[in-house]
Amino acid sequence: MKKSKFIRVKCPDCENLQVIFDHPSIDVKCLICGRTLAEHTGGKGEIKAEIVEVLE
Ligand SMILES: [Zn+2]
Repeated sequence: MKKSKFIRVKCPDCENLQVIFDHPSIDVKCLICGRTLAEHTGGKGEIKAEIVEVLE
């Protein structure tokens, strides 16, 4: 079983806080500036932003 969770990240460019899935099925972009926050890699996503909180 794949463990996955939601994480709160901070956009490195605009400091927007955004909750994203840590195993994204598509690339996740910042809602404010459009920077890529997480890339879909086929398995575990690659997080490109600072993780500030892990949500249960
Ligand atoms: Zn941003």
